[in-house]
Amino acid sequence: MAKYNGPVCKLCRREGGKLFLKGDRCFSDKCAYDKREYAPGVHKGIRRKLSEYGEQLREKQKLKRTYGLMEKQFKKTYKTAERMKGITGENLLSLLERRLDNAVYTLGFAVSRKLARLLITHGHFLVNGKKVNIPSYVLKPGEQITICEKSRKCEIIKNSLESAVRKTRPEYFEANIDAYQGTLKSIPERDEIISTANEKLIVELYSK
Ligand code: SF4
Repeated sequence: MAKYNGPVCKLCRREGGKLFLKGDRCFSDKCAYDKREYAPGVHKGIRRKLSEYGEQLREKQKLKRTYGLMEKQFKKTYKTAERMKGITGENLLSLLERRLDNAVYTLGFAVSRKLARLLITHGHFLVNGKKVNIPSYVLKPGEQITICEKSRKCEIIKNSLESAVRKTRPEYFEANIDAYQGTLKSIPERDEIISTANEKLIVELYSK
């Protein structure tokens, strides 16, 4: 699977906001965006006024990069959202939130979505008692994620769990850190999803 291997913090600076891609570092004084809020590149500090297309494109890039997806995967998710009943933009956000890698991150079993993906592919999680090693797996309401018994001693997971206790998460996720478990309680609704993305602009972009 293709993946982005470039400098991660540059993505936040490009999108003009914190995307929280580096775990605990994002909440520390080492955050590159907090130090240099201007866009990367030679024209330091200059953010040009964007065209309508430019705004739509930036919004799409912001959401795509937040969830760590490449264009092909993101477009595929969009196409699925389009085929679903309801509002396409809201369906898109809901599908992204229900991805297994996002769930593992949001529940606090990994400090970033990138790490969550890696841990999932290495088979550290069960969904309803069965091993699932596909980060893009879309959870259904009621499905329970459990950290495999052997993996509970893994240092990376233990470190993540330490900060998981303090983590705030949306209502549709329920975490039971002591039991190494978490559940997707319901389909995420737009007003519950913590995202500053303007999904309507993304729909406009893909509708061209
Ligand atoms: Fe973005 Fe986190 Fe890097 Fe800050 S530390 S710029 S929030 S990835």
